[in-house]
Amino acid sequence: MRTKQFKAESKKLLDMMINSIYTNKEIFLRELISNASDAVDKLYFRSLTDDSIGLNRADYCIRLSTDVDNRLLTISDNGIGMTAEELENNLGTIAKSGSLDFKNNNEKNEEIDVIGQFGVGFYSAFMVADKVTVISRAFGEETANRWESKGAEGYTIAPCEKESVGTDIILHIKADTEEEKYGEFLDAYRLSSLVKKYSDYIRYPVKMFFTTRKKVEGSEDEYEDAVEDRTLNSMIPLWKKNKSEITDEEYNQFYKDKFYDYENPLKVIHTKTEGQATYNSLLYIPAHAPFDYYSKDFEKGLALYSKGVLITEKCADLLPDYFSFVKGLVDSEDLSLNISRETLQHDYQLRLIAKTVEKKIKSELTKMLNNDRETYEKFFEAFGTQLKFGVYSEYGRHKDAVADLLLFKSSFEDKFVTVEEYISRMPEDQKAIYYAAGETVDKINMLPQADAVKAKGYELLYFTDYVDEFAIRMLREVDGKEFVNICAENADFGTDEEKETVKAKNEACKDMLDFMAESLDDDVTAVRFTENLGTHPVCLVSEGGLSSEMERVLNAMPGAAGVKASLVLEINANHAIADKLTDLFETDRDTLDKYAKLLNAQARLIGGMSIENPAQFSSLICELML
Ligand code: ADP
Repeated sequence: MRTKQFKAESKKLLDMMINSIYTNKEIFLRELISNASDAVDKLYFRSLTDDSIGLNRADYCIRLSTDVDNRLLTISDNGIGMTAEELENNLGTIAKSGSLDFKNNNEKNEEIDVIGQFGVGFYSAFMVADKVTVISRAFGEETANRWESKGAEGYTIAPCEKESVGTDIILHIKADTEEEKYGEFLDAYRLSSLVKKYSDYIRYPVKMFFTTRKKVEGSEDEYEDAVEDRTLNSMIPLWKKNKSEITDEEYNQFYKDKFYDYENPLKVIHTKTEGQATYNSLLYIPAHAPFDYYSKDFEKGLALYSKGVLITEKCADLLPDYFSFVKGLVDSEDLSLNISRETLQHDYQLRLIAKTVEKKIKSELTKMLNNDRETYEKFFEAFGTQLKFGVYSEYGRHKDAVADLLLFKSSFEDKFVTVEEYISRMPEDQKAIYYAAGETVDKINMLPQADAVKAKGYELLYFTDYVDEFAIRMLREVDGKEFVNICAENADFGTDEEKETVKAKNEACKDMLDFMAESLDDDVTAVRFTENLGTHPVCLVSEGGLSSEMERVLNAMPGAAGVKASLVLEINANHAIADKLTDLFETDRDTLDKYAKLLNAQARLIGGMSIENPAQFSSLICELML
């Protein structure tokens, strides 16, 4: 019989399994039982519309059997089975990912990641078996096929007999070694505890015959072997059990299996709700954003079950956009089984459930924010941007639902703070909540205005996420305190007296300032003196609603219309340059014109903007040097 080769990627995965240093070998059983359960599901669904199948719900099962002498473990199911072609396609290639990245997979961590992320499924059998035989008869076929492989060398497929539809996976368990006692996977009690541990909520019975010695009835000392058919799993879905019966490991394992994550979730929320809406929910807050989370491909939603039967894998209506990162399921008694996708949207019960689910998520996040800041910060690093979108989207319609969940980086202790915390420690003379937007905290700290705010003893919020400023514009104020961009013209931290002085100076030098503004043409709307700059010579502030950071973000968007923030060039009234400029206005306007251009370019660089005419800037500098 011709031996066929595995596809290249499958071969690599197989090699990895065969030579596995992965310690958790026992998971192979979970993988095979889960495949069997899927196959049974498929046939069961078929049977709902096809009477010829002739099985009742109670007839479907998965069976484990062992032949200790020959070191065989068999996992059988009476599911849909596979044709020769399906055996070839399903077991000869990796089903899930055509693009497994095997770089550096020699390292142990990498290997675990691969197993976790992709769920190696069937191939995991090779962690414990040196030969695997699959005998399968597909639904609708008279004959069966035998697929066999000893691992990396390849596999064979040939027709064979099988009495009924379904699949037997026969594992030839490896010989024991010093380190590994593979024989444990032939022990009925060990197998039964593995089923309990990993596959308890499988919806079909996982059965096994147990042989026990029993006293012969009526006799004193006569014993006989009694064979008992036991069901090893409770079949109760995890979410229907009581919280006290579920271990953290079970919760986490369920999450990882069902939602294809390799990392434990940050938080598990398991509820049983009764009242207007009666349902169980099992919700998870992931520890990291899926790779496609912030892309169009991401689909939010919770799985929806009615009385334990799956209606839809992803019901989007159960989650608001700002909580779209939540994974999980809802199982309700109140929904009809034949509810369709379209009617879901209009279903009153469902809307009620969605509302309670949202409230629950909010309250759990608030609890985490108040009691477990470290975890919350991890959560916020992953999903904070989404919450900020929540404030911003639909013109701020949902801002109240999310605003108090926001965190911002702050100049106090270099930590994340809530707006509430910020307000609670504002000095009495501080009028507004001050923030600055920029690419990084370091760059913001270099702003002249940042020095001025900090010198006053005020706390500064760093907006380094591009959505920050847009979100805050929607909030406008919290507890009567306005948000003020320190680089905007309405930011002023001076005393009334200082303001008077600078106002007088601006009036006195009006002609000179207008001359400079004229030199700068469209770049600025005005030039003026300020008291706010400490030791820095110049800065740019924005006028009106649009800041220069918003200009940058908006112009970076696809199809941007090229918006322009209107900017004012501010000159430090207490800096030596101020006198120099007033002198030049009297003596040498040509040079003043050049200085205006130089100062504006400097201010743009300091503010993290690019300069529009670098060549001109460079030649002006050279003129100064020569
Ligand atoms: P996955 O289950 O993640 O798709 P596997 O490698 O475990 O990947 O299995 C590959 C495919 O083989 C499955 O998708 C399924 O189509 C088929 N398969 C595996 N086991 C069985 C089984 N017991 N009965 C029917 N089909 C099976």
